Amino acid sequence: MPVARRNTRAESLVEQSPLPAWGPDEARALAANVRARGADETPWDLVVVGAGITGAGIARDAAMRGLRTLVLDGSDVAFGTSSRSSRLIHGGVRYLEQGELGLVYEALRERRRLYRMAPHLVHPASFVFPAYRGDRLPLWKLRMGLALYDALSLYQSHHRTVDAEGARAQEPLLDGDELRGAVIYEDAVTDDARLTLTNLQSARRSGAEVLTYTRVERLDRDERGLHRVWLADGAAIRARRVIVAAGPWTSERLLGAPGRGLLNLSRGIHLVVRAEDVPVRQPLVIQVRGERRILFVVPWGTRTYLGTTDTAYEGDPGASGVTREDADELFTLIGRVLPAARLGHDRIVSAWSGVRPLVLGGPRSRRPGSTVELSRKHRLIDNEDGVIGLVGGKLTTYRAMAKDAVDHAIKDLDTGDPERPRWPRATTHRAPLCPGAPIGADELADPLIADLVNRHGPEARVIAARAAAAPELAERMIEDLPYRWIEVDQAIRFEGALHLDDILRRRLPLALTDPEHGARVARRVATMLVRARGDDESAVDAEIERYRESLHRETGRTLPPT
Ligand SMILES: Cc1cc2nc3c(=O)[nH]c(=O)nc-3n(C[C@H](O)[C@H](O)[C@H](O)COP(=O)(O)OP(=O)(O)OC[C@H]3O[C@@H](n4cnc5c(N)ncnc54)[C@H](O)[C@@H]3O)c2cc1C
Repeated sequence: MPVARRNTRAESLVEQSPLPAWGPDEARALAANVRARGADETPWDLVVVGAGITGAGIARDAAMRGLRTLVLDGSDVAFGTSSRSSRLIHGGVRYLEQGELGLVYEALRERRRLYRMAPHLVHPASFVFPAYRGDRLPLWKLRMGLALYDALSLYQSHHRTVDAEGARAQEPLLDGDELRGAVIYEDAVTDDARLTLTNLQSARRSGAEVLTYTRVERLDRDERGLHRVWLADGAAIRARRVIVAAGPWTSERLLGAPGRGLLNLSRGIHLVVRAEDVPVRQPLVIQVRGERRILFVVPWGTRTYLGTTDTAYEGDPGASGVTREDADELFTLIGRVLPAARLGHDRIVSAWSGVRPLVLGGPRSRRPGSTVELSRKHRLIDNEDGVIGLVGGKLTTYRAMAKDAVDHAIKDLDTGDPERPRWPRATTHRAPLCPGAPIGADELADPLIADLVNRHGPEARVIAARAAAAPELAERMIEDLPYRWIEVDQAIRFEGALHLDDILRRRLPLALTDPEHGARVARRVATMLVRARGDDESAVDAEIERYRESLHRETGRTLPPT
């Protein structure tokens, strides 16, 4: 089936778009090109294994410095932890207690930079952190901690302390009983999967290539000393440098660094409910009695999400699942502080579950099975064979981590250009992730642009113009959620989506926000996708089946009939 044609006005707007096409045709051409280069032994400057936020940050940094860069992922962009976080860009108030001032300072600096680099994706919010009688952190301690937090942010943000009445005025859902007061401070909320995607789109603009659904099996060296990256089908790619950024999948085997002990995996789940069931006005931070853990309750448009748990984990990072016990635990802990919230299994809209790749070596928790006190710092590993690994860290600090890794990778790498013998320094903090003039207040009066802007930034203008030429694509997919049909087309043609779950889980997360997980629209989305791939319509059912399985594997939720 050929790709559906659009009218010429829309076509010409696409040509004006600064975003390079990234659809099934580009993926096919790249897969062939990568293998052809492998066969004639032409090396890439850098191959990055993993297209999570870490790999995306590395690719953007390297490509902006001029390295010929290829990213490979065994699944989709942000398939792993980078679509399963608490979605916060934060300094991490909790790490103050652990004395990790350097980490908090760095994270707050990166938060500041991300406000500038991606204002449409990183939204400052007032977080309310209450203290109750008997809480491990009383109000005075919170106030001291947040004063330090302000200082570490170089006074770019300021907390304030309120008494119980002030706390209830700020957040009426809080239980007033034994409430001592709250601190109110600034941090930010993001869309983790889209932050990852947007970094990869930026990397592609600078010339990087990204090939998904291409698993790396092993690494070695050829007789010229080049790294060989072996793919599942037996093809080998050559590279002058390799950085493994495979998150919780990073193994000693893949890195060729046996016996060192790399990671502790920690599982965390989140639940999504309707905003009217837990109508918080702003993000809330909740202390867990008798533990050093905190929980977040975060408003998300017409939904609210709750999280997270923090327990040691040993299974497949892609299938960590959500159990009834996980949900019960969150309901009990959150219900204590928000007794008026309507919590219960029948109120769950959806859920997600992720695995933190925590580096080994931090102090261990006293609670058996807990990973709360393992360090969130990152670790750069350089094995004897010159393969570099970058693990741990946080979504918030990805840019700084990437800079470290690329600086390390290019140390002894010649540029091949006598006029410019050194690679340039990183400029990733200066350039915006999405070029173009920010969307103005007058443009936001258009409800279509208002829906698009938080995912696409300045690109929303181009997408809206394309929708004007195809009015059936301007509609919302589901009434109370901001996702528009034109974004399915965008995901297929410009965002590298190759499967139904790429679209419904990571580009437009109906899997997480719609109680039916997109079942009502899945067939139409799959049909658009399958046509763009040039496949037979019989592939639609296979895509739906694949989505049903992946949804169940990650969240335990069942897809209703489509
Ligand atoms: C519950 C939870 C909450 C969190 N909350 C926050 C938060 O609020 N703020 C924050 O800053 N951080 C948070 N984090 C941490 C943050 O999400 C992670 O540090 C970050 O996403 C890790 O990204 P990554 O790219 O290293 O790994 P991943 O995102 O897991 O990416 C690894 C990629 O490698 C690919 N891959 C694996 N093996 C291979 C192979 N052999 N060949 C090719 N590809 C391969 C995978 O498919 C995957 O796409 C949270 C983490 C969890 C689990």
